[in-house]
Formats: sequence, C-alpha cells, structure tokens
Amino acid sequence: MSIDLHYDQQHLWHPYTSSINPIPCYPVASAEGCEIELENGQRLVDGMASWWACIHGYKIAQLDKAASEQLSKMSHVMFGGLTHQPAVDLAKHLVALSPGNLEQVFISDSGSVAVEVALKMALQYWHAKGEKRTKFATVRNGYHGDTFGAMSVCDPQGGMHQLYQGFLPEHLFCEAPQIGFNEPWQEQDIAPMKTMLDKHHKDIAAVIIEPVVQGAGGMRIYHPQYLSELRDLCDHYGLLLIADEIATGFGRTGKLFACEHANITPDILCLGKGLTGGYMSLAATLTSKHVADTICGGEAGVFMHGPTFMGNPLACAVANASIKLLLDSNWQARIAEIEQQLKQQLSTCRQLSTVADVRVLGAIGVVETKTANDLASIQAKFVELGVWIRPFGKLVYVMPPYTISDTQLAKLCSAIYQVLSD
Ligand code: PMP
Repeated sequence: MSIDLHYDQQHLWHPYTSSINPIPCYPVASAEGCEIELENGQRLVDGMASWWACIHGYKIAQLDKAASEQLSKMSHVMFGGLTHQPAVDLAKHLVALSPGNLEQVFISDSGSVAVEVALKMALQYWHAKGEKRTKFATVRNGYHGDTFGAMSVCDPQGGMHQLYQGFLPEHLFCEAPQIGFNEPWQEQDIAPMKTMLDKHHKDIAAVIIEPVVQGAGGMRIYHPQYLSELRDLCDHYGLLLIADEIATGFGRTGKLFACEHANITPDILCLGKGLTGGYMSLAATLTSKHVADTICGGEAGVFMHGPTFMGNPLACAVANASIKLLLDSNWQARIAEIEQQLKQQLSTCRQLSTVADVRVLGAIGVVETKTANDLASIQAKFVELGVWIRPFGKLVYVMPPYTISDTQLAKLCSAIYQVLSD
C-alpha cells in the first residue's frame, strides 16, 4: 500500500507549511546509510542528516541494537522518583565530554525544551540570589527553537516576533558577529555586544548564543574570538552565558563542541539533535554545580521543570550507543576530510553570477545565493539529480552524515553547482 499523499496534504501540517496550499512532500519508504529511499524506489543521497541530527546516517546496526535491547527491558518509565542505567550513563558521558565544569544534567525531550530549561535555569538563578533579572541578551540572526521562550531570543526579523507581539517577552538584541571564521579578528566586532551589556547588565539574566555557527537564522559562521571575548564580558559583568549547541554539538564543526574552538566553558549548555544520532527526540541542558546549587538554595528549593518524558530510557540508551559509536570512530579526521572536500568542490560555485558567498566549517557547507530560491522548484531539481538537499531562502546548504562517502559528497556538491547554474 502506498502512502496516502492526498490525506497528508489535506490533514498533516509539515514544518512551516500552509494547510491551504501545501508544498508537495516526497514519500519516503526507508533510509539506510546515507541514502533515503523514496516510495518509487528512487534513492537520494542525504545532504541534510535530517536537520543536523542523523550524524551516523540511517538504520545503524549499533543504534538499532541499543534500541531493541532497551525495548526488551522498558521503553519508558517516569523520572519522578525513579531512575535507570541509561540516564545515569548518559549523564556520565555528557559530564565527561562537555567543556569545563558542567556537572548537573537535565534531560528533556527536544531542543526547544532544552532552551526553555536553560532560560528557566538562568531566571531561577537570579531569583535565588534575590535579584530581579528578567532580560536575555543575544545577537541577531540567532535561532533557538519554536517554543515561546526560545522564540523570544530568535532573530526578531524572522516574522515570529511581529506575529506574536504583545505575548512574546521582549529581550535585548545587538548586531550579529560579522567577521568570518578564518578572517582576521577585529576588536570592533564585539563592540555592539559590549555596548549592550554595559548599558543593560543589571537587568540581564544571561546571554544566549549559538557558538561559532548560527544555524537556521542564516547559516553564518563567525570568528571564535567573538566567543572568547563574550565569555570575558559575561565574567566582567557577572552574567551567565548559555551556549546553544543543539545544532553544533557532537562534532559537526570539527570539534566535539563548538565552544572548544574558543576554549570556553559556558555556564549553561544545550544539546539535542545529534545526541541520539537522530534516532529519536532527546535533549539535555547542562550547568555547573554552582548554578544548580544556587538555584536549589533559593526560595523555590528545587528546579521547576519536569516533563513527562524526562530521561526517556529508550532515547537515553540510543544516545549512549550513538556517543560510543562517534567516539570509537575516527570522527575528527573524517570531518576534516569532509571539510576539505566541501571547500574544494563547493568553491566552484563562487564563479556563478547567482552566488553571493560560499562558506564551509567542519561538515557544514553553505552556498548563499543573491536572491531567494523558489523552494518547490529547486527541491524538485535536487530530487531529479538524486540528492536530498532542502534549501531555505537564499541558503543552499549541506550538513551530511559523517559517514558519507567521497563519491556521495561529490554528488551533493555537483548537484548544488548544477542546480544553481541553471
Ligand atoms: N537551537 C538550535 C541552535 C537549533 O538549530 C534548533 C533546531 N533547529 C533548536 C534549538 C530547536 O530544537 P528542536 O527543533 O529540537 O526543538
């Protein structure tokens, strides 16, 4: 029986789509390795890792095994008053791998929730210290998720702020970092942030930022010195720093965590997406004992959050297997190779008159066009060429599974060149 596309179009909302005039979706039968198989048997080389998440590709034996072994014990059990090995093991992994002294772990169900949890940690921290601080500071072009707290710190130009005006809390924004990863650092890049923090620091609970790569807000790759200067500024003004590594975590930028490019430790770290190798939704928010114990030493006495699927054993078991698989692999060398190949093969796009910029870091390759692309038609061209690449606006980009072969990656790069030169 084939997938009922008519029903899908009539009744299912896909991300950011219209119920009146939905863009067609491609029916997927299965996915294996770095290929997605459509219902008609066509195989597409995957350039998206399902939005950063499937870092090992699809249908991975070790992850399947971890899931089925855990299923034979229990899929889920409440985390209130109960605990289990998969959650304890995951906490041990995350504490050991994450930068610095992040030792207290909150395991939740999705990236947006991990960000909500981070914002609540910061608010409760200051509440416990007897200070009323309700503002968050951030840079433009950020993206942190679609729930209300997360939306309120996303780029204000994206439409969401206007749409929910009056309901969305208003926070503080400054110009985004302008200097690219490999460009010479200039002190003036941090000046707008400095001015903002100088003026408002007494009201600010935390600064939130995506380290080194701003994802859905523009696929912008900035100089790591910005991060180290930001860490210094937060220390200077006594502010908490939240690093949202939901997209960049687990090797994507060439380091296990993007904060490592600047050798900094945030006060709060958000992880998601690649945490389970993209098998299921799971996220984590880590903080230091100092922040955690300050929160819990306050009037509330506890941290006020506790979702139903907190610490889900099935997802934690797969996350543990995914982390082991990553660490046992030669991930750093492989990502360096992917980076080299992306740099080489995407650079030809620079010659195209439609292209404004090409940028690469780790296993992320971005081609920015001068004008926005029509999604439905550009998508169809990519599928025709046997690749799965999903552009948005002016951005045509790939962040493939790390297990992609050179041949598959070459196919992605040449498809981008071909489609953009049409
Ligand atoms: N933060 C960042 C940096 C993200 O890229 C995303 C997802 N694109 C989120 C938060 C939200 O995660 P989720 O979609 O799992 O809620």
